Amino acid sequence: MTNIMAQIPDFAVSVARLALWLVILSLVFVPLERFFSRTPQQWARPQVGNDIAYYFLNNLLPTALMALPLALLAKLVAMLVPAPFQAWVHGLPAWAAIVAGLIVADLGSYWGHRFSHEWPLLWRFHALHHSAEHIDYLVNSRAHPIDVVWVRMWGLVPVYILGLGSTAGAGPWVTVLIAVAGTFASFFVHANVRWRLGPLEWLVATPAFHHWHHSKHDHIDHNYAATFPVLDAMFGTLYLPGKFPDEYGTADPMPTTIAGQMLAPFEKRTTAPVVRE
Ligand SMILES: [Zn+2]
Ligand SMILES: [Zn+2]
Repeated sequence: MTNIMAQIPDFAVSVARLALWLVILSLVFVPLERFFSRTPQQWARPQVGNDIAYYFLNNLLPTALMALPLALLAKLVAMLVPAPFQAWVHGLPAWAAIVAGLIVADLGSYWGHRFSHEWPLLWRFHALHHSAEHIDYLVNSRAHPIDVVWVRMWGLVPVYILGLGSTAGAGPWVTVLIAVAGTFASFFVHANVRWRLGPLEWLVATPAFHHWHHSKHDHIDHNYAATFPVLDAMFGTLYLPGKFPDEYGTADPMPTTIAGQMLAPFEKRTTAPVVRE
């Protein structure tokens, strides 16, 4: 009991910090979506309450679930990865470690994300993210925590194995920068913003790039990368035409309550994602 009580202040601080981040993100994205909207829609669109709840849930629960496996992985890596290699990685200039960390994390999460479309069991958990029929920055948070853990582990495990996430050298800055840049990028690619960024769209993920991944027809099996579209180009899954999709969502029925959405993957289903032959 005493232990539980001792944890409460930490938990309250985490919730307060998340609330502050949500305010900051909203101060950035609400005006952008108002002045540069791709589809006219109200901030208070269907499921917005759920998405805010998922914002808190998915920033608290997956981190707690992953803490022990990642700590064990860090210990294993320290024991198994040859010391000269670790020393070489830790000696890299900060910019090189950051670039390498971003690329390696995106490569891992590309495949974690792609498998969550191609393996029916994983699709059960990922379908919630694709159930959104109104896309805006908050849709970024709509996901099953198990789906979040799955894709995030695919991003983090290679970073840990290569030593890019350790506390030596440029390590802590790499993880902090990846987290902050990744947070803004992941909200931005969902934003209801009509901007097209020309050649930059081949370099970093943009709303048009990720909106096609949420398209209701045909292109849900494209644009898996979180940050670098070149990965989709390399693996034959890039789709980036000059327009935005007409409709978002999937044919899968999805319960509207959070409890229903959390339990949906465990219920009998007959539908599967559309995957290209
Ligand atoms: Zn997806
Ligand atoms: Zn998305």
